[in-house]
Amino acid sequence: MVTQGATVTHDSHQPDLILRDRARLWHPYAPASPDLPLWEVEAADGVRLRLRGEDGTRHEVIDAMSSWWSVIHGYRHPVLDAAAKAQLEKFSHVMFGGLTHAPAVELAERLVAMAPAAAGRPGLERVFLADSGSVAVEVALKLAVQFQTATGHPRRQRFLSLRGGYHGDTFAAMGICDPVDGMHSAFPGLLAGNVFASRPPAAASATTEAVQGWAAEVAELAAAHAAELAAIVVEPVLQGAGGMHAYPAECLTVLREVADRHGLLLIFDEIATGFGRTGQLFAADHAGVVPDIMCAGKALTGGYLTLAAMLCTAEVAAAVSGGQAGALLHGPTFMGNPLACAVAIASLGIIETGSWRADVGRIGTGLASGLASALELGAVRDVRTIGAVGVIELHDAVDVTAVTAAAIRRGVWVRPFRNLVYTMPPYISTATDIAEITAGMIAAVAEVHEAHFERVPARTGSAS
Ligand code: PLP
Repeated sequence: MVTQGATVTHDSHQPDLILRDRARLWHPYAPASPDLPLWEVEAADGVRLRLRGEDGTRHEVIDAMSSWWSVIHGYRHPVLDAAAKAQLEKFSHVMFGGLTHAPAVELAERLVAMAPAAAGRPGLERVFLADSGSVAVEVALKLAVQFQTATGHPRRQRFLSLRGGYHGDTFAAMGICDPVDGMHSAFPGLLAGNVFASRPPAAASATTEAVQGWAAEVAELAAAHAAELAAIVVEPVLQGAGGMHAYPAECLTVLREVADRHGLLLIFDEIATGFGRTGQLFAADHAGVVPDIMCAGKALTGGYLTLAAMLCTAEVAAAVSGGQAGALLHGPTFMGNPLACAVAIASLGIIETGSWRADVGRIGTGLASGLASALELGAVRDVRTIGAVGVIELHDAVDVTAVTAAAIRRGVWVRPFRNLVYTMPPYISTATDIAEITAGMIAAVAEVHEAHFERVPARTGSAS
């Protein structure tokens, strides 16, 4: 158990763990043996992590990242722990080809029941359980192409997506990420071929004219490429890893109309936005727009285990199943993993109580007021919030190593990227936690990036 608010010392660490890591492991988007700081997680409980640095310094920090936006209910949640243990007592994995099990069936039913819906529009009724967000996106893209082929449009093999988007690290998913800031330049021969519209105007400053101008561009692109496009793919309302860019919900209505006009499928990637993060259960709900295909992941298991889902309409499922292939051509070994499904059911059970709505509202208010003073810093270009997401945008690239270390000294774990220092805290974060996160973010930015900075006292860690 990590003691709240206190710096903890603990003696059971393995002194050379970080050295052993450096000798053998890769980390995300990193070279082998990176020359960058690495922190060992010794314990995780509630919203807090206990970290041990390479010099033996220990810090208790609030996880302002929810472990890349997934741990919405916090670490070691009793309901999720109990669900995992109960399923472990039964069986932890069985193949899904030719077999089924209660956790997968119940999870699919619950996902269908909570998916975006609108009167007069087919709902999302069929579920494919994938093993990560990127794979769910791959499956969605495959399904869209198979749908077009099955309905007499075999040339429709490309996608229309948005600049500034991020959809995962597998090849087809990379192909619809931002063509400049994504990984297109590293794999030029493998990622070409898709069509990109501008990112929609920012929610905070969008004028009617700006939205109309963007809508005209999307309509024009779709019309020009309709014969080759299978689907439009976007992160609804919030582009996450591509720049934490929030845009007006009415843009989703535009996309729905354009897709319908040209017989394109509309795919919403709700992997980052799903399960309440933007203030609605799904970001699509801000506009009452129902896509033909939706991907969910990250928070699906409350961040306990890797699992994602692709949902589609009955019409799409029927067309693909009746097509020449006679099947959706995908089937991972760990599809529908029972342990992950059981924890996901427990997580959705917590979501279904509805407490997330008040929590996200409360956290959003705390983030907005807590981060407002960041605008007084010369290094800061913009501060924005949407739902339980708070963003400080700098004029220049963040010194990630220095800002991370400065935030840790103030009891906060953040993982900045590009020119952004942001937080997506767990929904169980208290008002005090949020105040600590926002103060820590601002102080870290100020310490590292502000020339005339009045030093905010840092909490010192204890070395062992
Ligand atoms: N789509 C979106 C919108 C994401 O934010 C991410 C991950 O950040 C992914 C897809 C990929 O998910 P995963 O990392 O689980 O493969």
